[in-house]
Amino acid sequence: MNKDKSNNITFSIKQWVRPEIRALQAYHVPPATDCIKLDAMENPYQWPEAMVDEWLGLVKDVELNRYPDPSASQLKDSLRKSMAVPAGADILLGNGSDELIQMLLMALANKDSSGKGSTVLSVDPSFVMYNMVATYTGMNYISVPLNDNFSLDVAAFITAIEQHTPAIIFIAYPNNPTGNLFDRSDLQKIINAAPGVIVIDEAYHAFANDSFMDKAGQTDNLLVMRTVSKMGLAGLRLGLLAGKTEWLNEFDKVRLPYNLNVLTQATAQFALQHQSVLDEQTQTICKNRALLFAALSEIEGLQVYPSQANFILFRTRQSEATAIFNKLKAAGVLIKNLSPVGGALTDCLRVTVGTQEENTAFIKALALALE
Ligand SMILES: *Cc1c(COP(=O)(O)O)cnc(C)c1O
Repeated sequence: MNKDKSNNITFSIKQWVRPEIRALQAYHVPPATDCIKLDAMENPYQWPEAMVDEWLGLVKDVELNRYPDPSASQLKDSLRKSMAVPAGADILLGNGSDELIQMLLMALANKDSSGKGSTVLSVDPSFVMYNMVATYTGMNYISVPLNDNFSLDVAAFITAIEQHTPAIIFIAYPNNPTGNLFDRSDLQKIINAAPGVIVIDEAYHAFANDSFMDKAGQTDNLLVMRTVSKMGLAGLRLGLLAGKTEWLNEFDKVRLPYNLNVLTQATAQFALQHQSVLDEQTQTICKNRALLFAALSEIEGLQVYPSQANFILFRTRQSEATAIFNKLKAAGVLIKNLSPVGGALTDCLRVTVGTQEENTAFIKALALALE
């Protein structure tokens, strides 16, 4: 390859790729073969063998030569029942809730007369995709810092609403990566103050004891987002947005017609017919979480944050997080190192709740790493 050519590419990229995209790092997923994988909030359990066999029989008849049902109407009906979507709310499906975030922001990205992008408002720390998709779509991303205990600073949030007039607000409930639920009455105040739409992202609903789903379709600007990913179906890529038909009709216009493939539609439909299997797994994960929380809390030098999700955030002694993370990795346990993010997450690590055996192996490796 001659030097001129590669210079040409560099030059061309600089000329044509938007500067904010050039400045990004692609979303990094670390390789995780042959290790205990506790980094991505996955459900660690498989289906019973008889259920897998039944599913294989069903998949056999899926018509791969045909385009999927663009409206996924059967699947919508099943999700409606499974997620208790109120009769007054409509639903919109996405290829994971990540795609729903993208659809929302594609529809809302706008520029004012001075060329400034419309605003996405959230809290910090929160789910990284809100910020990333805001960048992809040329929107202005603003986040309001959480309090030291990761509770919501509602006064500061309302001030930020007044100052920035956000087109959209995202609140993860429970929050990722902190695991807590914010105060419900604070969120109600934010819903009332929101000038545009507000999305309550309930990705971890299955592990939490509260939800805004019953308000979907009742409050004009409220959208409730769910995903099947954390319930044990991360590989399927299926998310749901519930709210007023008028809003969803607008967002549906930017949806690619066949965003949910035939295998996802058939498999999700099947899985929801066996909801009790998923529910049992979820219950087990909640029990495991309590044990993991207790075990972590007993380790000296860690600050452990209560969680209503399927992961636990904890803080190490100053400047120890990365070394501990690396020692765990060397011992074959992969968790998430959030310390490099900085700010409130400095010295923080996040572990997904795994099986009882995985959690025990993690605690053992952690105790050794701390020696
Ligand atoms: C995991 C997660 C999502 C994304 O879920 P997918 O449906 O897998 O795209 C959305 N929001 C939050 C807060 C999450 O943690």
